[in-house]
Amino acid sequence: MSEQALYPGTVAEVPEPDSVLLPGHDVPLGRYTTVRRLLPHRQRRMVGAWCFVDHFGPDDVSGRPGMQVPPHPHTGLQTVTWLVEGLIEHRDSLGSHQLIAPGQLNLMTSGRGIAHSEYTPEEHPPSLHGLQLWVALPDPERHDAPRFEHHRGMPVQQIDSAIVTVVVGELAGSRSPARVHTPLLGAEIVFAAAGHARLPARRDFEYGVLAMTGTAGVAGTDIGPGSLLYLGTGRDEIAVDATGPARLFLLGGEPFEEPLVMWWNFVGRSHEEIVQSRDDWMAGRRFGTVEGCDAEPLPAPAMPMVRLKARDRHGSIH
Ligand code: MN
Repeated sequence: MSEQALYPGTVAEVPEPDSVLLPGHDVPLGRYTTVRRLLPHRQRRMVGAWCFVDHFGPDDVSGRPGMQVPPHPHTGLQTVTWLVEGLIEHRDSLGSHQLIAPGQLNLMTSGRGIAHSEYTPEEHPPSLHGLQLWVALPDPERHDAPRFEHHRGMPVQQIDSAIVTVVVGELAGSRSPARVHTPLLGAEIVFAAAGHARLPARRDFEYGVLAMTGTAGVAGTDIGPGSLLYLGTGRDEIAVDATGPARLFLLGGEPFEEPLVMWWNFVGRSHEEIVQSRDDWMAGRRFGTVEGCDAEPLPAPAMPMVRLKARDRHGSIH
C-alpha cells in the first residue's frame, strides 16, 4: 500500500533509491601489501551486515613475499576471503590450516574471539588479487563459539551475459553454502566481454557494487576499481552494462540496525567491550594460539585518548 493510499490528500513520499559513489583509500596491510579500503566510509558505514571491504591487487608478487599478516585477533565478525588470483594460507587458533585458491571461500566466524594469520605461501603464482570482507555478527550470535569454513565449488550461473558466482546468500535461485546470521548477499559478476545483465534485487536489501577489474555502468553510474557504488534499498533489479571485460562484486543485505564500535580488529557494542578484548589479547587470554605460525603475534595499538563511540550504519554516533 502506498503512502498516498494511507493518507489521502498528502503528497506521496516515495524515496528514490539512493545511489552514491564512495571513493576508497589506500591502507597498508602488513609489511608488503596495500589494500583499497572501501568500507567503512565516512558517508556510509555498512551495506547490510557488510562492515568492512578491502580490495587488494592485482599486485605483481613474483619474487616478493605477498601477503604477510601475523597472528591477530577478531571479535564480533566473520571474515570472508575471496581470491581472483594467487594463494593465501590461513591458520587460526581452532587449529584450522587452509590454503585458499581463486573461486574458493574462506569464512571465519570469530564469535566471541579467534586469532588467525594469513600468508602468501613461499611458492606462489605471480599475481595476488582478491577481497577481504567483514560481516558484523548480530546479537546474540556474536557471543557464540568461533568456527571456520572452507568452501569450494560455489554455485555459478549465467545471468544474461554475466557469469555470476554466489559467494554468500542467495541470488536468482542459487544459494551459497556459507553460514551467515543476517539476510546477506555477496556475489561475483564476471563479464568476458562487453555485455549487459539485469540482476534480480530484493526491495528490503540495500546494495553496494565494486569493480575489481574493468569498468561498468551500474544502475546508471559508471564505476571502476577504487570506489564502491552504494545503491540503497527499494530496487527490484540492478542493471549492469560492462564496457568490456569486467569483474564486479555485488554486496547486499538487510540494513543492519545495531550501532557498532569498530576498533582495530574488533567489532563490539561499547568502549568497555573493546578495552576488554584488547586487554585479553595482550594478556594472551580468550583468543588462543595460532599453531604452525612462527611469526610474533601482532600487538594491539594503544587505545585512543578518547572514548570509542558506537556508530550506526549511517555514521551517526549513539
Ligand atoms: Mn584478520
